[in-house]
Amino acid sequence: MKFLLFFAKRFIAGENLEDAIHVTRKLNKIDIKTTIDFLGEHSHTREEVKKNLENYFKLIRAINILKLDSNISIKLTSLGLDISKDYCIDNLKKLLKYGKKYQVMITIDMESSKYTSFTIAVYKKFIKMYNNTEIAIQCNLRRTNKDIKNLINKKPNIRLVKGAYIEHSKDYIQNKHIVNDKYIKYLRLLFKTNSFVAIATHDTKIINYAREYINKNKIKKKRYEFQMLYGIRQDIQKQLADENYPIRVYIPYGKNWLPYYIRRMREQKEIFFFVLKHLFR
Ligand SMILES: Cc1cc2nc3c(=O)[nH]c(=O)nc-3n(C[C@H](O)[C@H](O)[C@H](O)COP(=O)(O)OP(=O)(O)OC[C@H]3O[C@@H](n4cnc5c(N)ncnc54)[C@H](O)[C@@H]3O)c2cc1C
Repeated sequence: MKFLLFFAKRFIAGENLEDAIHVTRKLNKIDIKTTIDFLGEHSHTREEVKKNLENYFKLIRAINILKLDSNISIKLTSLGLDISKDYCIDNLKKLLKYGKKYQVMITIDMESSKYTSFTIAVYKKFIKMYNNTEIAIQCNLRRTNKDIKNLINKKPNIRLVKGAYIEHSKDYIQNKHIVNDKYIKYLRLLFKTNSFVAIATHDTKIINYAREYINKNKIKKKRYEFQMLYGIRQDIQKQLADENYPIRVYIPYGKNWLPYYIRRMREQKEIFFFVLKHLFR
């Protein structure tokens, strides 16, 4: 495992909170904000969930005390969703309350499709009381058009992503080009409404489209930000910061890094095969 960790460190800050703080400080110095994720998805025991919560409380306090320009990202399965829905809601409420007290925004990551309805329902439940909440919405799901339309009248904070969970089911759009087109469509829709949108992608075509749209339509900075993952396209991250666009980087840390690392490797694998295909064409 130690051997794998060496490679995983490209995508994760490290196994401890201090590692995430260290990376955040470095990025904050060059005007890049962060969102820190304590890696603990699919926790199946209450002890594990309790530890996750404690780690999140510690993280929130650290962000506040050290005045880091950071918020946090969480997954509902790290708050006990695989154990009980009510238990998960209770834990999320505690966390949102804590975040509000310490003025730390909380983004709810979106996991695989079996959790989508519940995640959106929970976000809707808390959005009014806790405006320090953001939700990730995946463009590769067929239901997303409807979900966004149902959310926009609630002034949501939406992190728009292509979607990292590839399941071979009819609920998913498998064609990458269609997903890219959907991304642009939803982005325009969110810009045109009262929503806050986090443009969470490393796709330069989409980033350039968003920049043009923002400049042409004079979209205010408080209405959007770019978001990228730690270890991916640092050149663009820095360029956006240099050009004074709001940009935030997702920093995962913790001992349970394997599922996250596998998702990132799978994306890389596709890139690897893409390069091979074009080399031998
Ligand atoms: C801040 C943030 C939060 C996210 N939260 C969620 C979430 O809650 N739920 C969810 O399902 N997904 C989430 N994702 C992941 C997202 O859904 C995509 O899987 C991921 O961002 C890759 O898609 P892309 O938009 O960058 O486009 P792609 O077309 O996949 O990639 C565009 C370019 O980015 C670079 N790139 C992308 N991935 C890699 C990689 N692994 N290694 C090296 N280079 C790479 C390559 O240069 C590639 O050409 C998040 C992404 C970001 C940036």
